[in-house]
Amino acid sequence: MDKKFVITIDGPAGAGKSTVSKIIAEKLGYIYLDTGALYRALAYKALKIKISLDEVSALRDLCSSTTVELKNIDGQMKVYVDGDDVEEKIRTEEVGLAASKISTFAIVRERLLNLQRETGAKGGIVAEGRDMGSVVFPRADYKFYLDAKLEERIKRRHKELLDKGASVEYESIQKDMFARDKQDTQREIAPLKAPDGAIKIDSENLSVPEVVENIIFYISGK
Ligand code: C5P
Repeated sequence: MDKKFVITIDGPAGAGKSTVSKIIAEKLGYIYLDTGALYRALAYKALKIKISLDEVSALRDLCSSTTVELKNIDGQMKVYVDGDDVEEKIRTEEVGLAASKISTFAIVRERLLNLQRETGAKGGIVAEGRDMGSVVFPRADYKFYLDAKLEERIKRRHKELLDKGASVEYESIQKDMFARDKQDTQREIAPLKAPDGAIKIDSENLSVPEVVENIIFYISGK
């Protein structure tokens, strides 16, 4: 495959997008762009400086006074806020929920749009998020929509956090993920949906290698 494609993978939290996207990017020698990390980065700063998450003026100030950068460290894109590596700190459910709240605002989405597009400008990218195929890269070469039932996604996220050593209740993830699904799918701007022309994959009964195989099959025809 000589052409450097833009591949988008959208879907709800816990559908397996990150794991799958990372593997595919590695296999193809592409950049892996985790756009959720960018929303999480701004949300992390908002929580840190304790601003209201639903006030446009506060979010406007946040957007103009915060630098969000992506740096390629040994082939891995890491997100930096005001010069600090926040990769670990942004991975909590609290930050995820806050990201979901602030990402309903146009000012926040616009603030992050160019950074995402610039990262994919030369192709050779696997971009994952909620609006990759619909808004950020509408002309992507391949669009995928990865989904699984809510219960399965809660189980996966719970296990993932337990494996990381976090002490977190199943019920609390259930509550947060339900709220996040609702917010992400019902917001007015760039709601989570399967983009036009996307190939839908239900990851419920598929292993990670099986999902990867499916996607590679579509891209390379092998
Ligand atoms: O993918 P992740 O769970 O890290 O994303 C955190 C939140 O950021 C999502 O719940 C969603 O509200 C928001 N997001 C978004 N658009 C994207 C990626 C993430 O609105 N492209």
